Amino acid sequence: MSLAQYFCELCLHLCPTGQEAKEHLRLILNSLYLLSEHKRPAKQVKVCFEMRLIALTGYLPDLVMCADCGVYEANEMVFVPHTGKLYCAACADRNGVQGFRLPRAAVTALRHTIYADFDKLFSFELKEELLDPVSLASERYISYMTQRDYPTLQFYKQITNQ
Ligand SMILES: [Zn+2]
Repeated sequence: MSLAQYFCELCLHLCPTGQEAKEHLRLILNSLYLLSEHKRPAKQVKVCFEMRLIALTGYLPDLVMCADCGVYEANEMVFVPHTGKLYCAACADRNGVQGFRLPRAAVTALRHTIYADFDKLFSFELKEELLDPVSLASERYISYMTQRDYPTLQFYKQITNQ
C-alpha cells in the first residue's frame, strides 16, 4: 500500500495534465495490478515503474554503452544518477566517477526497464540482492531529475526497513 502511494505521488508530479496520457495510465494501472496481486516482487515493480515513468516524462537515461570508452558490456558498470549516464568500471575508476556500481545482471535489468517493449517491461528475473542496488539507483535518478524528495518513498522505506 505504501509503495502504491509512492506511485501515485510520482504520477501527481510527473503525469501531464490537460492532455492524453495513455502511456502513463497504462503504466500505473499495470504496476498497481502487479503489486496488488503479488505477481512480481514489489521492488521489481518499483524499479520498472520509476524508470519507465521518468523516461516517459522526458528524462531518458543513456544506458546503451559506457559514456567514455563506448564498451557495451563489462562485468561491472557504474550508473550515475545525476546525469543518467553509464560507465564501465575501468573508466569510472580512471575518471573518479561516483555512482552505483552494478554487476552485469543488474545493468541488464536496468536497461530492460528502459528499452524493453511495454508488454515485456515487468518480465525479467533478478536476484533480490541485485534488485536492491538497482532500486536505489532508480529512486535516486528520479529524485535528481525531478529535483525533489518524495515523502511517500521515505515512508515506504521506513516501514520496510530500507
Ligand atoms: Zn568505459
